[in-house]
Amino acid sequence: MKYFDREPIPEIFHSDAVGGPFTLCGHCGLELLVPGVRYLVQKRFDGETLVSESALCLACQRQRFGRGLTRRSSRGMKQHLWNHVDFKARSRYLLGRRDHRLELWIDRCLLCSLLRNQARSAAVLAQCQGTDLLYHYFPGMFCGGCEKALAGTLDRKAARPVRRRKAWWRPGWVRRPA
Ligand SMILES: [Zn+2]
Ligand SMILES: [Zn+2]
Repeated sequence: MKYFDREPIPEIFHSDAVGGPFTLCGHCGLELLVPGVRYLVQKRFDGETLVSESALCLACQRQRFGRGLTRRSSRGMKQHLWNHVDFKARSRYLLGRRDHRLELWIDRCLLCSLLRNQARSAAVLAQCQGTDLLYHYFPGMFCGGCEKALAGTLDRKAARPVRRRKAWWRPGWVRRPA
């Protein structure tokens, strides 16, 4: 995978249980802090309180989002995301900002633009490699409602349309409804 930028994993993507970066894949136990090993970190908050955290190696991600699901449901989820967010434009926009920093990537919901500090629950995600966080289409954040809707795309053919907020419109980045 080509990534656009990287930095040492910031604290928000550390494991609370470990007290530093995640060391093992939560599913298969693969060692993560090895150069070249890529994994996805996901942390879920209820307000300020951490409710769950996990790290998944690439193989386990594929199993969970690929083979573990029917082809159609995994495609449905991806399509739902891409229908709503132009990830390439978003990355270009955020990396091009002079005040570029992680917070810009996770301060609002990817799908509905609700601010993280206004969301009752929120999940933040990032791709990491060894001890670095990778800037690519993620990091990102989903509010609790959108995460649920996204999970719903696994079971249903058509996802509920996302209610978006005006402030999120940026030319060429968030797709307007067809
Ligand atoms: Zn694994
Ligand atoms: Zn949302």
